[in-house]
Amino acid sequence: MEVLYYSTRSKSEPVKASEAILKGLSDDGGLFVPAQIPALDKSLKELAAMDYKQVAYEVMKLFLTDFTEEELKSCIEKAYDEKFDTEEIAPMVEACGAYYLELFHGSTIAFKDMALSILPHLLITSARKNKIQNKIVILTATSGDTGKAALAGFAGVEGTGIIVFYPKDGVSPIQEKQMVTQKGDNTLVVGIHGNFDDAQTGVKMIFSDKELAKEMDEKGFQFSSANSINIGRLVPQICYYVYAYATLLKEGKISEGETINVVVPTGNFGNILAAFYAKNMGLPIGKLICASNDNKVLYDFFSTGTYDRNREFVLTTSPSMDILISSNLERLIYRIAGNDADKNKELMAALGGQGKYEITEEMKAQLVDFYGNYASEAETAKTIKKIYEDCGYVIDTHTAVAAAVYEKYKADTKDTAKTVIASTASPFKFTRSVMNAIDTKYDTMSDFELVDELSKLANVTVPQAIEEIRTAPVLHDKQCDVDKMKDVVREFLHI
Ligand SMILES: *Cc1c(COP(=O)(O)O)cnc(C)c1O
Repeated sequence: MEVLYYSTRSKSEPVKASEAILKGLSDDGGLFVPAQIPALDKSLKELAAMDYKQVAYEVMKLFLTDFTEEELKSCIEKAYDEKFDTEEIAPMVEACGAYYLELFHGSTIAFKDMALSILPHLLITSARKNKIQNKIVILTATSGDTGKAALAGFAGVEGTGIIVFYPKDGVSPIQEKQMVTQKGDNTLVVGIHGNFDDAQTGVKMIFSDKELAKEMDEKGFQFSSANSINIGRLVPQICYYVYAYATLLKEGKISEGETINVVVPTGNFGNILAAFYAKNMGLPIGKLICASNDNKVLYDFFSTGTYDRNREFVLTTSPSMDILISSNLERLIYRIAGNDADKNKELMAALGGQGKYEITEEMKAQLVDFYGNYASEAETAKTIKKIYEDCGYVIDTHTAVAAAVYEKYKADTKDTAKTVIASTASPFKFTRSVMNAIDTKYDTMSDFELVDELSKLANVTVPQAIEEIRTAPVLHDKQCDVDKMKDVVREFLHI
C-alpha cells in the first residue's frame, strides 16, 4: 500500500516519500507525517532470523513506498557497511538489569550515524527519481552530534553541499574538534554566538525564505535538511527498535509477543518518536519512557499538558539534549489532535509567539503510552559511577540520563517488564564528564589522556573516530552572530 506524506500545518496535497525527503520541511513550515503508520508484514520470529540490513529493509520498504526494492537495498548496503565497527550494527549489552542498545558504533560514535549514514543515499536517490538537476545544499543546526554525523555522511558526495551551524560554546570539546577537522570541499562548519535553539530557529528561517529559495534555484541550488525533522532520518531510526526486539527474541531473553519498555534520552524528540512509530507498527512496546536532563520541558509537558519553553536554558553534561524546542514533538501533537493540521498550527503559532501552548484533556489522554521524567546533573553522574562500579559497564552522559530515569520509573510504577535503553553515544565522546563522574581525580588530565584512561577502565579500545582527531588540523574556524547566518550561506554558495 502506498504511504503518502502530509504536512502537519495544512491540508495541502500529500507528497510521496521521495518528495518529502527532498524537501525536508513542508512549504508551510510543517513537518511531513505519513498518512498512516504501516503494520509490520513479517512476524517477529521471521524478523529475529534477520540481520540488521534485512530488518532495515523490512521496515523502510513499508514507509518509503515509492522506492524500488533495488533502490532501497542499495541505499541500505551503502550505509551499514564497514563504517560501523561491528557487523551487528546495533549490538545489545545487558548490564545492571537493563538492555543497552548501543547505537554508537558508526563513524562518529553517536546514534545520529544510524540515520545519517543512509540519508545522503536516500536523498540522492530521491533527487534522481524526481529529476532534480540542482545541487542539494544541506543546511543543519546541531546540538553537537548531528553536525559531525551529517558532515561524515555528506562529505564528498557528488551533487551535494553541507553547511552546519553549531552553538560555539554549547558542545563538548571532542564534538567541536570532530566538526572543525572535517575534510571535504563541499563542507562548511560555523560556530554561532547563541544556543542550539537559536541555531535551529535561524536554520528554519533560512529554509522558509522564499526569496532566497528563488535566487538559489536560478543559480542551480536547493536546500534540504539533515535535521531530525527529515522523514528520511526518522524512518531509519524505527529500524533499530524492531531490530532490538528481534535480538532479544533471538537470544531467548523474551518470548514472542512479550511486551518490552523502551527508555530514550530525549532532546529533539526524534529518537523516541521513532520508537512510538515502531510501537504503532505493531512492535510489542509497552511504555515509551522519555528521559530529559535539566532542560526538562518534556517532563513538564507530559505531567501537565502544557509545553512551555519560557525558562532558563541550562548547559549540561549531556549537551545533545540541551534543547527547549523539541521539533519532532509536533508530529505527535498533530496526531493526538486527530491529524488536525489547523489545531496543530494554532498550537505551534502559540509556541512561536508566547513560547507555550496547552493541549486539551482529550489530547492528553492519548499520551498514556508515554512516561516522562528527568535526571539532574548529580543524578546523571551518580548513575555513571554506579553502573561502572556495580557492573563494569561505562555509559555516556546521555545514556546515563536515561538509566537514571529508568530507575525513577521502576520506583514509581513497580513495572518489571524487560527494558531496552537507547544508548545514544559512546562514553569516548564525552570523556571528561564521564571520567569526572567516576572519580574527580581525573580532572587534572588532558582530554586525550582521559581517553586513554577510559580505554583502560572500560576495557574498550579507543574508537577510530577519536584516534582520527588526536592530530587532525582544524579546517573550519568561522563564527557568526545569529542574525548573520543567511549571509554566511550566501557567501559559501557565492550568490
Ligand atoms: C541527538 C542526541 C540525543 C537526542 O535525540 P533526539 O532524537 O533529538 O531526541 C540524545 N543523545 C545523543 C548522544 C544525541 O546525539
